[in-house]
Amino acid sequence: MYCPFCNADDTKVVDSRLVADGGQVRRRRECLSCSERFTTYEMAELVMPRVIKTDGTREPFDEHKLRAGLQRALEKRPVSIEQIEVALTQIKHFLQVTGEREVSSRAIGEEVMAKLRELDEIAYVRFASVYRSFQDISEFQDELNRLKEFKPLTAKN
Ligand SMILES: [Zn+2]
Repeated sequence: MYCPFCNADDTKVVDSRLVADGGQVRRRRECLSCSERFTTYEMAELVMPRVIKTDGTREPFDEHKLRAGLQRALEKRPVSIEQIEVALTQIKHFLQVTGEREVSSRAIGEEVMAKLRELDEIAYVRFASVYRSFQDISEFQDELNRLKEFKPLTAKN
């Protein structure tokens, strides 16, 4: 990288060590031109993609909103906070590894539904009914039917 003092394009690493519990690499560099030393920190960039809403507008990914959505669906259901946090972490991981800079709210919704379906069927139906905003009772019935079809896949028998 360029020297921040003289802008020379050749600097060498004189020391390199792991910091922040191994989450970062700290490097001491020396400019080959002016001999000044400076420090750089390197870490993996796991940026959450921006969310493309259905109307085409973009907004930052909002973890609080996602957690609130999960908690609302799971209210009074036998699912622990810990399980919710695990699901949240998995959804965030899914979004980070896509490597996309923008992801549709639809894709996030589908991922949330996949997680809820594993956690709790009632919560899944609650979330789906809001998310897919069923127009009438037959659409809701279709979703319930899909849920029934899904079940044999996970049943342990
Ligand atoms: Zn320099």
